[in-house]
Amino acid sequence: MKKLNNKEIWFITGSQHLYGPEVLKQVAQHSETIVNGLNQDAPLLVGFKYKDVVKTPDEILQTCIAANADPNCIGVVVWMHTFSPAKMWIRGLSNLRKPLCHLHTQFNAEIPWESIDMDFMNLNQAAHGDREFGHIMSRMRKKRKIVVGHWQSPSVQQKLAVWSRVAMGWHELQTMKVARIGDNMREVAVTEGDKVEAQLRFGFSVNGYDTTDVLRYLPGESASEVSALLDVYENEYNLTDSLKKGGKSRASLVEAARIELALKAFLENGGFGAFTDTFENLGEFRQLPGIASQRLMADGYGFGAEGDWKTAALLRSMKTMAQGLDGGTSFMEDYTYHFTPEKSYVLGSHMLEICPSIASHKPSCEIHPLGIGGKADPVRLVFNSKTGPALNASLVDMGNRFRLIINEVEAVAPQADLPKLPVARVLWDAKPNLETAATAWILAGGAHHTVYTQALTTEYMEDFADMAGIEIVVIDEGTNIRDFKNQLNANEVYYHLFELRC
Ligand code: MN
Repeated sequence: MKKLNNKEIWFITGSQHLYGPEVLKQVAQHSETIVNGLNQDAPLLVGFKYKDVVKTPDEILQTCIAANADPNCIGVVVWMHTFSPAKMWIRGLSNLRKPLCHLHTQFNAEIPWESIDMDFMNLNQAAHGDREFGHIMSRMRKKRKIVVGHWQSPSVQQKLAVWSRVAMGWHELQTMKVARIGDNMREVAVTEGDKVEAQLRFGFSVNGYDTTDVLRYLPGESASEVSALLDVYENEYNLTDSLKKGGKSRASLVEAARIELALKAFLENGGFGAFTDTFENLGEFRQLPGIASQRLMADGYGFGAEGDWKTAALLRSMKTMAQGLDGGTSFMEDYTYHFTPEKSYVLGSHMLEICPSIASHKPSCEIHPLGIGGKADPVRLVFNSKTGPALNASLVDMGNRFRLIINEVEAVAPQADLPKLPVARVLWDAKPNLETAATAWILAGGAHHTVYTQALTTEYMEDFADMAGIEIVVIDEGTNIRDFKNQLNANEVYYHLFELRC
């Protein structure tokens, strides 16, 4: 896999001077072998960088401080080949600000039954060395991922790959700017929240702009970039007749292309990674950005409708984690239900803005009335999405903390052609079933807006919640409402105490 060459994960091995220089030399060699092996074999988006074996409190502190200060270091993996008394780690871990993964592995896979002696026992001590290290992290309430198993096993390499992708998504948030074009949909609760607290917790900043800030970049109708983009539309999508050259709504497609170019220039110029808009604050926009938002999402931008900056930021972070993986990731909304006595489904969609990365076929490009917002009919891409496993993620502000809610789902094919539905859509079977899933989701305060992904699994989201230090609740095959309520109640107490402690 092609690695992002300017970012890296530091691999730090802990030990102590007790063992003498010969053993420490072997520890260093083994660590380098592991790093080289992982870089070669593991499906890593970001390469691992071998750092020296640390043996004293000062070396540990200096390495942690250096990791914090290095803008290319997006996280650290730590392993105790030998025993490394963990009080030595207190100062370093207290200072470490980068995501932390504890690799609980061993250089050799199997015990060499015939040759094992005391030298071997003195060198290969992760089984107890890593427990000492684990104790101090738990004592310090340090959030981290723990990966257990031999470093050459595919499951260990996959877990490290997941965590390193999440570290990229986390790194992206640290400096991310979200442009909120217009404010929130009036009176809506769940899309609101504490932007100052979000910046403290996640790193990203959210600031407001007018549509005039975007329209400064609006190209003329006959600009060459407009006609070039119209060619892209023609090539990549099936244009409905009225949008084709000479068609009665061709001017609307030209307008949609201008809006896309203006938005893109605005985002690039301002260095934004995500944006929101809202149909109630469209200003001089002649149509709600439909195809523009869809294509910008496909380019990797985060997007949230109706001012939903939390979903916009989460979408950008999740797209960063998912880069190069199979399956798309999109803004989504639980739109309408299909209830039957046997099985019930959710039809997910939005009034326009679903990312074509989840499309199962060449989208059609269409124009239809919107019915709200009082603007001209917007152009949009219409498609069905791919079937298969997926999840919905919702980030909400509970007043004293952020909560991440996950529902695992199975996307299925719609049961008919939906010839009159003018929006992109996905039909899913929510786990464990719609009744339990929706009950749990509503109890947890989950939003109607989500990030929908077929590229990432719950494991990514659990790693993300740990990096952010936020609550996560997962609705999956094993969910039952009584336990779920108890979990929410327990979390209320936990996070209240957690707040007092910090
Ligand atoms: Mn919405």
